[in-house]
Amino acid sequence: MSARIIDGKALSATIKAQVAQRVQTLAHHGITPGLAVVLVGEDAASQVYVRNKAAACEKAGLHSKVIRLAADTSEETLLEVVRTLNGDADVHGILVQLPLPSHMNAGKVIETIAPAKDVDGFHISNAGLLMTGRPLVRPCTPYGIMKILESENVVLRGAEAVVVGASNIVGKPMALLLLAAGATVTLCNSKTRDLGAQTRRADVLVVATGHSRMITGDMIKPGAIVIDVGINRQADGKLAGDVDFESACKVASAITPVPGGVGPMTIAMLLVNTLEAAERCLPI
Ligand code: NDP
Repeated sequence: MSARIIDGKALSATIKAQVAQRVQTLAHHGITPGLAVVLVGEDAASQVYVRNKAAACEKAGLHSKVIRLAADTSEETLLEVVRTLNGDADVHGILVQLPLPSHMNAGKVIETIAPAKDVDGFHISNAGLLMTGRPLVRPCTPYGIMKILESENVVLRGAEAVVVGASNIVGKPMALLLLAAGATVTLCNSKTRDLGAQTRRADVLVVATGHSRMITGDMIKPGAIVIDVGINRQADGKLAGDVDFESACKVASAITPVPGGVGPMTIAMLLVNTLEAAERCLPI
């Protein structure tokens, strides 16, 4: 078997085009969706992510602004910036780029963002809404993966879904979204015994561990759909996923590549979340 390669770039382009159309509709009501990205410090990877997010916004017709703060900014100053953005009617989405410098409490900062503007979906109230089956803002990466599965016409109801990695930003919300869609979900972490025994049961396998190529073909059920979230920089400068692409392709029916799979979808869903936050401001 040779797996079909899922084109996350193409799907993200389709979603961004749909966002651009909805932005035009909102313009008739005098609203331009606005995203504020707060970047603290000089982290090189964060600078690239923030630039990409701002560029994607502009391209889809959203307004974006980047607030850059020095690495030694106090936590209270950052909280004050967030509070000001909470009260800014032109800002519908607020994103504080992680990681933050070690003297800041990321949880406290995220909890200061107004939940309706929390376009990353990390606020504890958005996590609670997701857990209780009433999602308001879904975290971008798992939301993008749900869009991939939808575009692949994957039947989740009754499917065995295995998520490897249980972080608050990817694995846990992923498991909840799959559960809400009717899948039987197994959520694995670094303490899972015999990981292969779990992953081999998966009709849908989502891997988000940050360990390069740790899931190999022999750990995959023949015909499974494999979603590789990992982004790992190799010694040669190239990117690799958490799945060993070559051996997985021989077993899976479809697989997301790295790069070009989940990554582009994450940015597309950030635009969707910002757009939807603005749409919620329309008078009913
Ligand atoms: P975290 O480090 O926050 O979480 C990793 C999770 O993987 C933890 O739950 C950990 O378990 C689990 N884990 C680690 N080793 C193993 C193992 N051997 N077997 C099973 N589980 C294991 O990572 P993130 O969720 O933030 O990110 C994961 C990957 O996804 C990274 O490569 C990151 O770069 C990428 N990523 C990609 C995005 C995209 O847009 N494509 C967006 C976000 C992340 P435990 O809880 O026990 O520690």
